[in-house]
Amino acid sequence: MNTRDEIRAQVSAGFRWGDAMLYYYGFESNSPLPTLERTGSQFGGITRERVRQIRDNFIAFIAHPRIRSLTELGRLIATKPIWSDWDLQTALTNSQLDCGGLEIRSLLRLLNDGQYQCNYTLHDGDMEKSRGHNDVLPEHWLLVCNDIAGTVREKLLLSKKLPANSGLAPISGVLHGIADPSIENALRLIWSMDPDFVSVKDGQDELFLFENRRNALITQLRKVAAVVKRANFNELCASLQRSLVESQFGPNATQIGTYLRKSKNVRIEGEEVRFEIVGEPLRGCELAVFKNLTSLGVASSPVLIGNVRKDSSYTDIAINKALRNSAFIFVDESNGRRHHSFRVLGDVILEPDLPSVRYLEFSRRLVELTEDGSDVECEGFRRQEQTALREYLFADRGSECCAICGVEYLPKSLVAAHKKKRSDCKEYERTDPYIVMPLCKFGCDHLYEERHARIVGGVVTCLIDTNTLQVGERDHIKEIVGRKIDEKWLRGSSHYFD
Ligand SMILES: [Zn+2]
Repeated sequence: MNTRDEIRAQVSAGFRWGDAMLYYYGFESNSPLPTLERTGSQFGGITRERVRQIRDNFIAFIAHPRIRSLTELGRLIATKPIWSDWDLQTALTNSQLDCGGLEIRSLLRLLNDGQYQCNYTLHDGDMEKSRGHNDVLPEHWLLVCNDIAGTVREKLLLSKKLPANSGLAPISGVLHGIADPSIENALRLIWSMDPDFVSVKDGQDELFLFENRRNALITQLRKVAAVVKRANFNELCASLQRSLVESQFGPNATQIGTYLRKSKNVRIEGEEVRFEIVGEPLRGCELAVFKNLTSLGVASSPVLIGNVRKDSSYTDIAINKALRNSAFIFVDESNGRRHHSFRVLGDVILEPDLPSVRYLEFSRRLVELTEDGSDVECEGFRRQEQTALREYLFADRGSECCAICGVEYLPKSLVAAHKKKRSDCKEYERTDPYIVMPLCKFGCDHLYEERHARIVGGVVTCLIDTNTLQVGERDHIKEIVGRKIDEKWLRGSSHYFD
């Protein structure tokens, strides 16, 4: 008999308010778990206080060790300090403790209330505690023993920050000083569940990074992708390695190569690498170096530095730094140390999306905002981000045209709409001012948000069966389908419109 059936059987045999309690413990609807109030209102409007009394009696009724399968469940959970949703499900099935579809939160509530000695808390994949009963259960969760949860969370946060300057960081840097092997196991389990975590084994060394976090290697890769269509694999590895060399733990070219082969940011065919990552426009001195190098083709460093100095105000130090640290530059060292020659790595994109001063200013502002507050996804931070994006589109403008219908409106009739749903955006996409376009509140914003209207190949398109809509929506859609979007709203990654 499974846990669910056993409790049901015991409760209906001996507890008067059994139905209400089964409801409260999630036997009817499990996510989110019902509160005392909601339980009361479901069962003849009894007060919260009365439900609490009933629950106290119920807890005494089911208390350890009355329900055999809860005892066994508690014992099973205690055999491991951390469980993923998948692990626990498998273990329950294997030990014939299947809970008949009862959600983990119901089980935890029963175990804790009935004092079945369960010292575990539910967390999401970032080791945030699952916030009370009012949330919907995350798709992937972790059940973590309270004895290790604090340390695991602290080390997880460290691991997300560590690769910053070195691009790829040694895992030993995170695991250093951990005596309890269950903490390492817990971390490895959490990392393995994260699709943005990549680790690279190289002999004794094991290096890692998170592809969705800002770190030097990803930043370099994005700058290369902004100006180069495709590159030679070995040259790219060498250039990336050179660009990271200033950091103390910089990876070697082989380790970078191993990472690239595992990365979803590039596609490698034979010797050729193509980029699947959103480019980050070059700016400042790097931009000046790139422009000069593309017009020169191949150059020695004195010639290149001389040229850059001629048409900009950058100092030798700044130019030298750009030459050393830019992965889009390939340094040919085959003719000896005194005769290094510089060229752009791979096939140059002829008209790369070179950003305007205004773009750069807002991009910097958004990145600064992120550095202050993105880890705590607080409401205030999101408001500031939205304000900056609105200003990017509308500041100093008396009017603007809706990107979809093309009609001119006052700024207050337009929204700064995310081309890609904000919640799906990576951090670097959220800080790209090109992520937004102006949409009018008179239909386009709504139709785009509902995905009734899409932008495909720069043209407004409707991909759904309009018979599922009504005459109102259909009329709006007829007006806009087939309209070509103004070039300026197509800047940024074409993936934003996927
Ligand atoms: Zn419009």
